[in-house]
Order: sequence, then structure tokens, then C-alpha cells
Amino acid sequence: MAEKLKGIAASSGVAVAKAYLLVQPDLAFETIEVTDTDKEEARLDTALAASSDELSLIKEKAEKSLGTEAAAVFDAHLMVLSDPEMIGQIKETIRAKKTNAEAALKEVTDMFVTLFEGMKDDNPYMAERAADIRDVTKRVLANLLGVTLPSPALIDEEVIIVAEDLTPSETAQLDKQFVKAFVTNIGGKTSHSAIMANTLEIPAVLGTGDITSRVKAGQLIAANGLTGEVVIDPDDATQAAFKQAGEDYQKQKAEWAALKDAATVTADGKHFELAANIGNPKDVQGANDNGAEAVGLYRTEFLYMDSDHFPTEDEQFEAYKAVLEGMNGKPVVVRTMDIGGDKKLPYFKLPDEMNPFLGWRALRISLSEGGNAMFHTQIRALLRASIYGHLRIMFPMVALVTEFRAAKKIVDEEIVNLKAEGQKVADNIEVGIMVEIPAAAVLADQFAKEVDFFSIGTNDLIQYTMAADRMNEQVSYLYQPYNPSILRLIKNVIDASHKEGKWTGMCGAMAGDQTAVPLLMGMGLDEFSMSATSVLQTRSLMKKLNVSDMEALANKALTECATVDEVITLVESATK
Ligand code: PEP
Ligand code: MG
Repeated sequence: MAEKLKGIAASSGVAVAKAYLLVQPDLAFETIEVTDTDKEEARLDTALAASSDELSLIKEKAEKSLGTEAAAVFDAHLMVLSDPEMIGQIKETIRAKKTNAEAALKEVTDMFVTLFEGMKDDNPYMAERAADIRDVTKRVLANLLGVTLPSPALIDEEVIIVAEDLTPSETAQLDKQFVKAFVTNIGGKTSHSAIMANTLEIPAVLGTGDITSRVKAGQLIAANGLTGEVVIDPDDATQAAFKQAGEDYQKQKAEWAALKDAATVTADGKHFELAANIGNPKDVQGANDNGAEAVGLYRTEFLYMDSDHFPTEDEQFEAYKAVLEGMNGKPVVVRTMDIGGDKKLPYFKLPDEMNPFLGWRALRISLSEGGNAMFHTQIRALLRASIYGHLRIMFPMVALVTEFRAAKKIVDEEIVNLKAEGQKVADNIEVGIMVEIPAAAVLADQFAKEVDFFSIGTNDLIQYTMAADRMNEQVSYLYQPYNPSILRLIKNVIDASHKEGKWTGMCGAMAGDQTAVPLLMGMGLDEFSMSATSVLQTRSLMKKLNVSDMEALANKALTECATVDEVITLVESATK
């Protein structure tokens, strides 16, 4: 019987394929007394050999998709599997305690993990060794128990990934050729899995609640990333309807593609800047292919997250240079690192916090003692790259004017330092802030005197204004981009910037939201930055609308509406 579920439409497109469950299997086992210890040792050898084969294959795949350096972690895992001391001890335990292979494996590897963890304060490398052993033990245990560990890198047939959530690095490993969509229990339009799905152009339905417990591996599912509908075991008619919806969407995309090189001009002749959000230099191609006029947000934290160490000044310089050159002189807003919240680094310990989204993150880290050195490194790399294009530097999570001043001072200092070292720095660099904390939105008039530009980060601005976690399904009804309170904050920022002759962009998901775009045009937003895949659709919409009508619409929404539904009705009637 077909079963229907509804989630959040997070990345456009439609797919029908078998489910691939990316969930951790149950690895529970019982400790059993055995008489035939030879048999247990043989079981262990078989499981070790199978694990080694799996890891070699994963490594080979990872080398192709992620590069030799990133794949090196699997060498460390393979080394654990052939460590004679540890394997000798496991076998010894089987014989001495007459216990099954599972129990002996766990006992000995636990001991090694405890040993290495105890040494990690003197030698940080030991923490990595402990993590490697833990990882490998899981795989060997799975092989002993005859259960399959999910290995997304090995997928070689068309599937829809079903998971609790997907981390950015898991998402980055997915091969678009085979992964036709993903469906998760948690997450929403602005979670980082949604951002990655959009960049990779993989349809996604997020926040279904409990898809992982409803669907079995290999079961057929249909997912519509345009509507948020998911059907498990769809009948023939449902499959046909989903496939049709997918084809219609592809047709629409082809129509939009014709606008790739067209200017973004409204029916009454006003130009808006349509920009793309990117996560790494490879995304520049998608931005250009989709006709973006700029990069409105380069989330540099992915550079940090995809590495096993703080990227050096030269490594960062190469990445920024590639993006600036790739955009051929079109403006590029580079956001300094926004670590914290749901974005973690394997090599930089963040404190456990009650409210990580309200805690030590982004510019707060950059300006603190613990993050100051890496901030200087990033700024130097950016300034050195500035001569290769049109650079705009942007600071995330600014609450105070004094935070902006402190960050800007570091930019100014590093310009002086670099020039003293004989390096060239462009003289047209703009320095601005993200407006994603309500305090900055309210005090925009004061900020506007000092910054070169604003870019409104609605993903965070909405969560902080509504006091509603952007990842929490239970309060997702409060996540209201078109709530008049949010619209008024946005209008305040835009007006404040214009009064000082500055400009305002938007790089949160709201900038590409087709219901919000008419309102934002009417409010005078200058730049709209969104996932590259939304650029052409937005250009098509803007071309059909008159700014003068949108000004009247926005004015009405700002002054007369009390609820989101009233705003939506107003927009629908004005854009029909
Ligand atoms: C935002 O908060 O709107 C934003 C663009 O930044 P991020 O989604 O990376 O927090
Ligand atoms: Mg943000």
C-alpha cells in the first residue's frame, strides 16, 4: 500500500527511485562463551578481510571524487585493520576468555581507544588514532554481525537517499549521477543540507519527521522537491504523475535557460543585480552557467570544513583567486568564516553550549583570542586575491557597531602590512556586513555611516526575530519570511543604506523565494543573491513585473498587513 508523507520542499526537481537508507544500523551483540575458538578466530579474519576490501574500494572512489589528500583518512583506517599488535590481542582474548569474536573485538579496541584518548593532551594525533579505531571497529563488527554499514561513496545505481539529516561533507560525497534525490527526517529550507542540495541541483524533501523508520532499504519511493510530497511504494499512476511533474519542471527550466545572458530588467526598465550563493570555487561554474551577475555570498567556512587543518594563507589565496578570476571581474562577496551553530570543524574544538546558534560563532570567534590569528590569515589571503577581480568582504553575525570597527581595523592593518611586504592590494575593495541579527537591522542607520554595503541574511534574521530555531520542525510555523515584522526590518535596512548612498543585498533563502521577490523589489532591495539554480526563474519573474506596482504592493504590506496570510493574499492578487 502506498504511503504518503509531507516534508519541506527544499530543492527543486522530482525523482522516483529505490530508497538508500543512510542510517546507522543496530550493532548490538551478546557476549557468548564459545568452545570452538578456532572458528571465532576464522570469523574475525573473514570480517577483517571483508572490511579491508570495503575500505580499499571506498578509498579508490574517494580519491576520484575528493582527491588524494581527502582520501588519505582511509589509509589510516586500513592500517588499523592490519595492526598486528591489536589483532594479536583480539585473538589472544578469544582464546584466553573463550569468548566470541564480537566481544573480544570490542574489549580490545575499547582498551586502545581509552589508551589513545588518555594521551591526546600531549599529542593531538592520538585523538585521531582513537577516532580511526572507533570507526574501523564499527565496520568489522558490522561484518561479524552480517549487517551492512552505509557507504554512500559506493552507490552505483539510481537511488533516493533517506537519512535523519545529511552533513555537508556527506552531501559533498554523493555522486549526482546516481543520487536522484534525498529525503530526511529533519532540516528545512535554510539548513545546510538544503543549501548543498540546491548547489548540487539534487531534489530534496527535508523535515519529513520519520521517513527513516517508515521506509525500508530498496523500497521504491517518489519524491517531489517542488511540493514536498513523498510517496513510499507508489502505484503505477502515482509514479507516472511524479515522472510527469519532473518532465514539466525540466521543460520550464529549459525556458528559463533562454534568459541566461539577458539583463535583469523589469517590465518598466529597472535593473536589479541577480547574484548566486556559492560554497566553494567549483560552484563558480554553476553561477556562470545560470547567468548570475555576481556572487552575493561565498560561504568560506566550507573551505575550512572540507579540510583536516586550518587552511593556510596560500591555500585560501588560491581558492579566493579562483573564484574572483572565475567571475571575470563581476563582483564577489566573500563572507569571512562563519563557524559555529551547526557548522563544526573536526580540528577546532568548539565549547559545548546550551544554545550554539546564540553562542560563540562567526565574527565572535574571529575577533576573540582563540580565533584572531586565523582571521588575520583569512583577511590577508583575501586582500592578496583582491587584484584578480572585484572583491567585497563581508563579516557575518555582526551585532555591534564596535564589532564592525574591530574587524575593519584588521582589514586596514593587513592592507598596510601587505603593502609594506611589497604585495599588491586592489583599491576598490568594499567592506560590508551581513544583517542577520535584529540589533543590526534596528540600528542600520548607524551602521550605514560606516559600512560599504549590507547583505541581509534572512535565514538567521528570521530565526532570531521570531525566536524560532531554523532547524526545529515543531516551531517551523513561526519561520515566516513574509511576516510584516520581518518586512519592516528589511525595509528599515534598505532605507538606511540608501540614505547614506550605500546599497543593500540579500543572501538568505528569502532572496530567491518567488513570493518574496515582488515585495523585495518594491522595497528597493538592490541585489538578490540565491542558489544559482533560482537565478533564471527569478529573472523571468522580474521581467514580468513593474517596479511601480511592486512599490505600491510593498507599501500596502508594510502598513496594512498584520499576518503572513494577508501578505500572501496581497502578493498573489498583485502578481496574477
Ligand atoms: C543567513 O543567515 O541568511 C545566511 C545567508 O547565512 P547562513 O545560512 O550561512 O547562516
Ligand atoms: Mg547566517
